[in-house]
Amino acid sequence: MERTVDLLEISDGKIYTLNDMVKVCADHCNGCSACCHGRGDTITLDPWDVNQLKKGLGMSFEQLLASAITLGVVNGLIRPSMTMAETGLTDETGEPDSKCTFLSEQGRCQIHSFRPGLCRLFPLGRVYEEQGIGYILLKGECVRENRTKEKVRKWIGISDMGTYEKFLIAWHDFVKKMEEAACQEVDANLIKQMNMYVLQKFYVEDFGENFYEEFSARLETAKILL
Ligand code: SF4
Ligand code: SF4
Repeated sequence: MERTVDLLEISDGKIYTLNDMVKVCADHCNGCSACCHGRGDTITLDPWDVNQLKKGLGMSFEQLLASAITLGVVNGLIRPSMTMAETGLTDETGEPDSKCTFLSEQGRCQIHSFRPGLCRLFPLGRVYEEQGIGYILLKGECVRENRTKEKVRKWIGISDMGTYEKFLIAWHDFVKKMEEAACQEVDANLIKQMNMYVLQKFYVEDFGENFYEEFSARLETAKILL
């Protein structure tokens, strides 16, 4: 989820590139799954994430909604996010604990190879700058003390990062414009129609073999229509 805050408050103050080494947990978190608990609706899903989930699980958007993802509204826009199910336990603060529905009893991600982009980042975050995407090491996100270094690119683990980042920037810009429009628009019916269109074209309707090409074509049409 996007946040507008002072970088020094939430990170070590550095902006890393894909080729920089960063202190994450190069041993694949070694059995820790803290990042998969108590996330509320913050693991928001973009069209790439949902496309990955649909293909990886062989499920439609409706089937995902019935089992693993939840719809919410952020800044006037409908956004899907990973569902957090209550575990019946309490966390260290005494609050009810919850965990992602894809986390196994053994604390392993059962969809590791097609997990969402935000899951790939933990404990990193993204910043959108004029020259492109930068990565930050978020304070307080990782509970491990002895973290090891890994190249940002390897940590995220997506093969075509250049194309993926172009997609992220295009989607980020589009969402920002949609949010601005939703804030300014007083006609609730128009906002609803806009949301339904975005949901249908970017989440419900399947993408074919070339996700990025189809996404770009749909985005261009959406920009003209909306
Ligand atoms: S998808 Fe996997 S990595 Fe992401 S929160 Fe769920 S279990 Fe954790
Ligand atoms: S808290 Fe750290 S070690 Fe644990 S799952 Fe998250 S990134 Fe990995």
